[in-house]
Amino acid sequence: MSESSEKAQLYLLISGKYYLVERIRFEGERAATRGWRLTHFDDKLNHSPYCVIRQPSGRLSCECAHFTFAAQEEALQKSRESKQRIEPTCKHIDALKQIGLLK
Ligand SMILES: [Zn+2]
Repeated sequence: MSESSEKAQLYLLISGKYYLVERIRFEGERAATRGWRLTHFDDKLNHSPYCVIRQPSGRLSCECAHFTFAAQEEALQKSRESKQRIEPTCKHIDALKQIGLLK
């Protein structure tokens, strides 16, 4: 049996799609950075994986289109309305928080 077939793998169902979830390891100065790589399980469309990153400052980011184009604008709008800082989010960040992989 090869090493890869013995390794445990985590799949996460997000909005009806399965993603392989892999920890991204950071070293040296970035060791406090946390990250997860989400790859479509059934990837007929050849999507690039999404990397969800928590910087040591606490700031979260995701590489998906929603986070990149909409979530930041939505958070800015909500922040203006509530006068509080609202962090942008997306379904990938929400799902990782829901199962406890991100705080
Ligand atoms: Zn996302």
